[in-house]
Amino acid sequence: MIYKKRTRPTNLIMMESLFCRMKLKPEDKYYYFSLRKGYEKECLYDKLINGKVDDCMVFNDLTFKSGQRYFQIDSLIIQENIAFIYEIKGFSGSYFYGEEFFSSKKEYQPDNPLNQLVKTKNRLREIFKARGINLQIEGYIIFINSEFTLYNLPEIPSFILPSQIHEHIDNIQKSTCCKVKNQERIIQVLHEEHVLEYPYKELPPYTFEDLKKGLYCKKCFSFDLEYGRRKYTCRKCSYQQIMIQRILEAVEEYRILFSEEKITTSQIYRWCGEEIKLDRIKYCLKKNFQAIGKNKATYYV
Ligand SMILES: [Zn+2]
Repeated sequence: MIYKKRTRPTNLIMMESLFCRMKLKPEDKYYYFSLRKGYEKECLYDKLINGKVDDCMVFNDLTFKSGQRYFQIDSLIIQENIAFIYEIKGFSGSYFYGEEFFSSKKEYQPDNPLNQLVKTKNRLREIFKARGINLQIEGYIIFINSEFTLYNLPEIPSFILPSQIHEHIDNIQKSTCCKVKNQERIIQVLHEEHVLEYPYKELPPYTFEDLKKGLYCKKCFSFDLEYGRRKYTCRKCSYQQIMIQRILEAVEEYRILFSEEKITTSQIYRWCGEEIKLDRIKYCLKKNFQAIGKNKATYYV
């Protein structure tokens, strides 16, 4: 059973909006693409385990603070008395194994993720110990991309290569016999230790005025949309999405990018490119948020 679902990370929502609405420097674009790729591979993993670990406790996308350092866990599965940490890597192409990094003909030479996994295991162990949770910890790295090959690989039980993923998940499913003890305590501790305010990489500077206004297609990012009563249709890729859902996503973008500003009908009207009727935006805000104040001074939380 999933006790913590994966949601689109806040920094990805921010960077996607900025990517669509302003010109980014190459390094910011790279940061955005790596966030997107990371989220996509995590969703792929979620699909693979879906329905296969129902008797275990699953917590996705956890962030903890240990001393002054933060660390993240892509997925934590607790089965009986073992906590399995899963780090998901989406490397593609061929690499040669190295203790410090994987080498390849490409410019990109990723760090050997085993070193990070050992640190993550130790830090989680410290948290469990401090909070009186008695679970063994095992850590795995799932290389989820089927186009990934690693040469000269010594036997490393923590590595799960693309061809081994199904077998590994099936083994977890088969070996579950009794329920996790102290479930409520584990849920409480993970909930309390999970950090919501993770410090993001510094964003490129932006102002409301600088950013391109309007709704963009969630599939191809084109602003060339045809608005219908219930849905919009992208003129470029024909993708359709329910209007209310897209407006709410735009409000969420605004709320995250301009966290100091109030959410008002007129501001969201401008944010949506002045193409959606004010009444429609008002209706949408009223239905989904709490209105504070009256008449023109109304804002939503
Ligand atoms: Zn499109």
